[in-house]
Amino acid sequence: MRDRMRGCAVGAAVGDALGMPLEFGPRQPLASLVREMRPGRIPAGAFTDDTEMALALAESLLAHRPLDAADLAGRFVVWLQAGPPDVGIHTRQVLSAVAAGEGWEQAVDRVQGRNPESAGNGSVMRCWPAALAHWDDLDALLADIRLQSRVTHPHPDCVAGSAFVGTAIYYLLRGIPPEVAVSRAVEEADVPAALRAVIQSAPERRREELSSSGWVRHTLESAVWGLLTTDSFEEAVVQVVNLGNDADTTGTVAGALAGAAYGLGEIPHRWRQALHGTWPLGSGKQWREAELVALVDELAARGGRGSQR
Ligand SMILES: [Mg+2]
Repeated sequence: MRDRMRGCAVGAAVGDALGMPLEFGPRQPLASLVREMRPGRIPAGAFTDDTEMALALAESLLAHRPLDAADLAGRFVVWLQAGPPDVGIHTRQVLSAVAAGEGWEQAVDRVQGRNPESAGNGSVMRCWPAALAHWDDLDALLADIRLQSRVTHPHPDCVAGSAFVGTAIYYLLRGIPPEVAVSRAVEEADVPAALRAVIQSAPERRREELSSSGWVRHTLESAVWGLLTTDSFEEAVVQVVNLGNDADTTGTVAGALAGAAYGLGEIPHRWRQALHGTWPLGSGKQWREAELVALVDELAARGGRGSQR
């Protein structure tokens, strides 16, 4: 299980970095799929906001369990103020209001109220630390993974999408086969009917049908398609990031799921060696695989009923 937990975190970050240069790009031809870390706006192997926001969530969960939403919002604001190269539009609107002194609940209600149908993938992409922190308690996992979404993305599809990903990780960590983990997660995460249909039909989709956009339904569709139509970590992530469009985020979600399914040992070494990033932003502190693994081990060690703080 420990190898799968590490695989979930490193897999998410590797999927992020592999997808980074393909973000906003076209679907790659099947004959020339990208399988190596390439430079994009940032150097080859570098992770993006998806992983940075996940690290903020992880550190919040190390400091407070159950999750303290105000603490998490504060950590997101510190990250935003350090000037990340990449911030989702909706996320920036909410966090800028919090930075200006508005309470997070009021800020997110107001921003969502301007565009009630807004349902981006910004909370699903960063949710995996809540699943690792609560690996042994599905009720606590569901409560915290839903709350982390509400801090910026309160749309029911975003909240349920995060709960779905977390529940799927919970079962994958236990060695449950991916198709069973996905169908259990859809049931137990209370996924609204339309999103449920998208997830359940994802494995039947042809790659030409997948838009892989920043809409949470499209992101989950691509990630589940990658997980359920391949039989290795490498192939799952390669297939998903090569759909282009929001490739770093679809790669992150597919990487978290496939990493939990196959474990750290199945993630290609060449990707693990190239992986890097700076955290906290602006600190100059380099994060590589070893730092991510240490974080996972600390999150999981403090998890567990009876060790709540
Ligand atoms: Mg990104």
